Amino acid sequence: MIRTRFAPSPTGFMHIGNLRTALYEYLIAKSQNGTFILRIEDTDKERFVDGSLDVIYNTLKIAGLKYDEGPDVGGDYGPYVQSERKGRYLEYAKKLVEKNKAYYCFCSKEELDKYSDVGAKYDRHCLNLTKEEIENNLKNNVPYVIRQLIPEGKTTFIDEVYGEITVDNDTLDDQVLIKSDGFPTYNFANVIDDHEMKITHVIRGSEYLSSTPKYVLLYEAFNWEIPSYIHLPLILNSDGNKLSKRKGDASFEDLLSLGFLPEAIINYIALLGWSPSDNNEFFSLEELVQNFNVKGLSKSPSIFDMTKLTWMNSEYIKKMPANKFFEMAKPYLESSINRKDINLEKVSEMVQTRISFAKEIPSLIDFIDELPNYNTDLYIHKKMKTTLENSLENLEIVLPVLENIDDWQEENIHNEIFNLIQKLNIKNGQMLWPIRTALSGKSTSPCGAIELAELLGKKDSINRINIGIKLLKEKVSR
Ligand code: GLU
Repeated sequence: MIRTRFAPSPTGFMHIGNLRTALYEYLIAKSQNGTFILRIEDTDKERFVDGSLDVIYNTLKIAGLKYDEGPDVGGDYGPYVQSERKGRYLEYAKKLVEKNKAYYCFCSKEELDKYSDVGAKYDRHCLNLTKEEIENNLKNNVPYVIRQLIPEGKTTFIDEVYGEITVDNDTLDDQVLIKSDGFPTYNFANVIDDHEMKITHVIRGSEYLSSTPKYVLLYEAFNWEIPSYIHLPLILNSDGNKLSKRKGDASFEDLLSLGFLPEAIINYIALLGWSPSDNNEFFSLEELVQNFNVKGLSKSPSIFDMTKLTWMNSEYIKKMPANKFFEMAKPYLESSINRKDINLEKVSEMVQTRISFAKEIPSLIDFIDELPNYNTDLYIHKKMKTTLENSLENLEIVLPVLENIDDWQEENIHNEIFNLIQKLNIKNGQMLWPIRTALSGKSTSPCGAIELAELLGKKDSINRINIGIKLLKEKVSR
């Protein structure tokens, strides 16, 4: 039975790389009916960032990555939290001391800084203490850490993505397992918990590859079964640098607040390092579970391409049922449109095919409440064969025709305008472009002239065309 875990440290945002790790852990478990658990690795109190636990819970919830088990928290289950498991790590470390696989170190921080300042390994000063010295120190409450004793030789392990890896143990430091505050280091607690929680597949970013030999040595020291390792390639931004929120790359929350759909983000992230066996790129979470396979993982870095994600999101938006899109668009529509006579559902339909993500909605409809100030050069359109002069002329001709329409319906407006176009024997665009421009005051609008006229209503449409005529007259007479 496959068991995977997502083991985030609550140190801030949900980076895209972390979310991908969580997703792959979920998929690897679920694709084989396995169990996916959540473990909060919060033993490093200095790095704890307030609010980051909520970010983790919310992200998993929004992304649909439901974890399967955890300690009882009043009828429900919560995630495993390392700080709540503090006691057990020291016991394990002591067992290693008994087995001569770890040792007490009483060196002061100042002494140790000598090594870390020059990037050197600890010189094993405390390994030479006698049993009596150690016992005395412990009795006198001299602060201590417990260090892993790295044996001589080489360590080999197999990673399912990167293959067989061997390192010389000489290159490994006697890392601290238990800190002087009694808390385990991340590296130690991680191994203990993966063992206790019977994790079969450890999936994590490739930045952990270099620590893996030390984990392997810990498993060997305890005589525990080593899990399968699956390290994931780096994610780079389009400049080729490591994706980083600090350097301005978007986090999951940033994307959500731009109005990206969680399903689209998850779909896109699934492709960062994994290739499906056919050319299909669109997968719901359920379909990912059906199709995901470790064999499709790559070891070369993947590029987080905002343009592609944006395109993918627009495809998702186009496929949404109109009512679902409306639900999502409503807050954006309501904050941009105060007029009570505007049919928001209609506007929603108009924008659905024209945006890539929801935050683009306001700038597309900001002309509805109030006609913006615009430059009359907007009337000049080469392809439409419009000039300032013929725009003015055609607006002056269409104005009384529009004024005469009693029943202001799209069909009637359409018929009257097209009759006129035929009568004048002009190109459609020569009439429609000036009307569209006069109604919107913008070079783009979420719909054409006729739909716009219906949306804005007769009074406002006539008013805007009058304004257009006035502006054009001023310009042409100059
Ligand atoms: N706590 C580690 C992190 O947040 C987890 C690494 C792992 O999955 O082992 O990066």
